[in-house]
Parts: sequence; C-alpha cells; structure tokens
Amino acid sequence: MLPLPWTAGTATATAGHGLGFPLTDFHVHLDNSTIDKVLELSRERGVKFGIVEHAGTKENVYPVVLSNDAELKRYLAMLDGKSVFKGIQTEWTDWMGCFSREALAQLDFVLTDAMTFPGKDGRRVKLWEADTAARVKMSDREAFMDRYVDWYVETMAKQPIDILANVSWLPASMAEEWETFWTPARMREVIEASLKYGVALEISSRYKLPKLAFLKMAKAAGVKFTFGSNGRYPDMGKLDYSLLMAAQLELKAADLFQPAPDGQKAVQRRKFQTG
Ligand SMILES: [Zn+2]
Repeated sequence: MLPLPWTAGTATATAGHGLGFPLTDFHVHLDNSTIDKVLELSRERGVKFGIVEHAGTKENVYPVVLSNDAELKRYLAMLDGKSVFKGIQTEWTDWMGCFSREALAQLDFVLTDAMTFPGKDGRRVKLWEADTAARVKMSDREAFMDRYVDWYVETMAKQPIDILANVSWLPASMAEEWETFWTPARMREVIEASLKYGVALEISSRYKLPKLAFLKMAKAAGVKFTFGSNGRYPDMGKLDYSLLMAAQLELKAADLFQPAPDGQKAVQRRKFQTG
C-alpha cells in the first residue's frame, strides 16, 4: 500500500510518498471556496497546487469564466504572492481571442481537455452532458472514436496549451469498453501529438485515467506528465491514482512537467491569433 501524503496531515508528509520528488496537483478549481482555505489543504496534504480558473468566451457556463485581460489580471492579482502555480482551464477553440499574449504570459501554465467536442451543427457539446447522444453523431462508435482522436490532435496542434487534462476520458456509453476503443494506434496518435507540440499529459486521479497501458506507451515515448485531482473543495490534492501510476511507471522528477521559464511557455512559443 502506497503511503498517501495527505493522510499524515503535515507538510512534511511530502517525502512520505516515496517517489523522490515534491508533489504538485496541477488541476485545482477554487469553485465554492477561497484561495486561503485551499492553501490550508495544500499545507496539510503536502501537495503544491496549480490553480485553474475557466477561461474563454461568456458562452461557456461555469461559476466563473475569465473572458478578457481585465478579468484575467484580477485573477492573477488574487493569486499573487500565494504559494501556488497560476493556471487557466481553457474552453472551446476560441479562448485565445479573449486575451492579449502579454496577459496570458503572466500565467504559469494553460490547461485544457478534449471533452468539449463539435456537435452535428458544429457547436460545442460537453460530452458528459445528457443531450450528447442527440447532438453528436455517435451511432457508429468506432467512427466517433476516430473523430475524437483527431480532435485530441487538433486541440494540441491549434491551441497554445501546456497540459492536456482528463486524457482518454470517454462518454458514459463507451467508458466500460475503454480497452476496446483506446487501441494502441489511437494512443500513439495522442502521444505523438503531445511530443510534437510539447504538451504534458495529465494522470487524472478524478477519472483514474489514462490506464496503465496508455501511460506505459507515453512514458516510453518521453512524454511529460502532470498529476491532477480536478478537485473542488475539499478534494484538491487527492492524488491516489496518479501516485499509484507514478509508482508503477517508476516516474522520476525528469518525467514530470514543470511550468516553463519566461519566454518558453506555450503561449509564448506557439503561434496563434490573440484578441
Ligand atoms: Zn477542470
């Protein structure tokens, strides 16, 4: 049984996970809490947090959606001086148009996922919502899967992101057949795009994904990983699955994503259209 750092209740527990590097949860949402309450948990669990606020146009419905430089800068100021990494979780394909490159460069990282997908009418569909079957062509599940993998590649190719979260998540109607749909060829496409565009892949403790076979292939290829709880209060920093996989993969510090130094962040090295 792996000793879990948050069970010990002190910051010194960080060393107790036995992996030989400090822990960061790069997928922490502040919804329904405050930075100060969340920081208490960070200290108790011995896990540093990468905070992500949703960012994109106001068409996206979340408790908070940062949609312009002024909102982004207020968010950055709120986190200023706190012992966290500052991130955003971006929405849809048009979020870059909301901000200037200069404002985005003040972030430590940009995270997104591929769970919002174009429907039959080309509009965004959240694949976890109940109306998905009506709005997305999914009757041929293999054909959907091919388009979904293309969507992963396109997301990494076109958006200046540092971390892809919730990797390999499947809609509820397909989740039980994960091994059938995530063939080695499909895994390889995602992994190759991650390397090509310099995007780290999240090991999600919320979804317990990707499964080990995917992660083994990714590690052998040289992919960088992050750990993510996708947690709302008080669940941030709970990284059981991520740590279990890290132990099985024998991950070292060098296998893990670190926020890039100024000048090398995705929003600084990638080409894209800003607002
Ligand atoms: Zn999230």
